[in-house]
Amino acid sequence: METVIIVVVILLFLGAFMLIRTARAMRPLPPIEEIELVEVDVDGAAKRLADVIQLETISTERETFDLDPFRKLHTKLEEMYPLVHQKMKREIISDASLLFTWEGKQKDINPILFAAHQDVVPADPTTLDKWTYPPFSGEIAEGFIWGRGCIDIKSQMMATLESAELLLSQGFEPERTIYLAFGQDEEMGGQYGAAKIVEFLDGRGVHLAAMVDEGGAIMEGTIAGVDEPVALIGTAEKGHLSLKLRAEGTPGHSSMPGKDMAIGRLARALARLDANPQPVRLKALKDLIGNLGSAASFGMQFVFSNLWFFRPIIKMQAEANNNTNAMIRTSTALTIVNGGIKDNVLPANAEAIVNFRLLPGDSIAKVCDRVRRIIKDEKIEFEPVADGAWEASPVSSTDTKSYLILKHTVRKVFDGIAVAPYLVMGATDARYYAPISDAAYRFSPFQLTAEDLGRMHGIDERISVESYGKMIIFFHELMQAWGQADL
Ligand SMILES: [Zn+2]
Repeated sequence: METVIIVVVILLFLGAFMLIRTARAMRPLPPIEEIELVEVDVDGAAKRLADVIQLETISTERETFDLDPFRKLHTKLEEMYPLVHQKMKREIISDASLLFTWEGKQKDINPILFAAHQDVVPADPTTLDKWTYPPFSGEIAEGFIWGRGCIDIKSQMMATLESAELLLSQGFEPERTIYLAFGQDEEMGGQYGAAKIVEFLDGRGVHLAAMVDEGGAIMEGTIAGVDEPVALIGTAEKGHLSLKLRAEGTPGHSSMPGKDMAIGRLARALARLDANPQPVRLKALKDLIGNLGSAASFGMQFVFSNLWFFRPIIKMQAEANNNTNAMIRTSTALTIVNGGIKDNVLPANAEAIVNFRLLPGDSIAKVCDRVRRIIKDEKIEFEPVADGAWEASPVSSTDTKSYLILKHTVRKVFDGIAVAPYLVMGATDARYYAPISDAAYRFSPFQLTAEDLGRMHGIDERISVESYGKMIIFFHELMQAWGQADL
């Protein structure tokens, strides 16, 4: 009897302890003061965006890269933003990348940078009849602007230009230098765009106080247990490693196969990689949930506030969802297999590509070591594919003044919503900026549902005119706040 009482008391204490931690995590977000937001000519801005959507600035391989639409875009921007082109210096980097420099009053403090890319992906020709309005029509209808680049990411490029033009018309003079940088080939890897812009800035000795590029957004319904829209600010992005695996075997006639078949050896290695995922680290997910406060459900905060107890459950739950699984580990994807030429010939070798997306903290060398241990076969050779391997980005701090201002600006413009740091799964141009910026934030100030995410690179890409107006207001606020503050 006594033991039962002791156990009950311990359990009650444990429960109370867990609840107290949860209550702390569930604290409501601090209120945001009412402020007057700038009036924007949303209809005019929407027309300008629509106009630019019509230009097919599709990035392709270098040999076939068509500069013509990019040149047309540059001419259009000159007409649309006269003050930007008068008061800021415009430089064309590489072939078609744009760098605008707005000199600050103080030359000895670090500049800030607003990035986006000019290029878009093509529309899949087999889906053209499924688009409500053609992908390069730039139609404004039903309250939306339609077409390639509305979400990814001409909207961000145009919104930063709109806000700079607006600030210039208001006579704003930044304390620190402001750069606007728009690459030409983000969708092809950014080697001739962002990479060259960074090389150029680095050569000038520029070190940024902070920068913002695409990557995170205001997400709705994309995280289980979080129903409210929340602003996810990318503080890091995953790395990339495509490994080419090669297995050799004894060639010969298929009527008398030996034990040493190339395809069998390769298949065993791939099966082992598939069955043995890379190790889990919950940090990115924990930081995200921990910052959401009461925007996450009680259950969610309860388990995340008591990670020491619920770790196995959280791990299991997170692994069951592709999105969260990618957030907690370096992912392993078997993407290409090649081998054999004829049904009655044993091939001498077989090859495969396995694509890993590296979690910050994992390195290419570390993953290669693990791969060696997992496949346990000295006869399998592997090496990173040329141009297919880069490390995860550094993680930008959420304690910087620039992050706090960014967070505050989001909450001011978007009705006090919760803001949390986020790990970007795909690659963005922002990774190139790591050598010249410790504070690289990846965020687009618009709201995306799970359905909208499917429109990106998909069918019926669009942005509402209202959302676009808010993007401009957001950049107008942020440009001023970052441009003035002592970051
Ligand atoms: Zn993009």
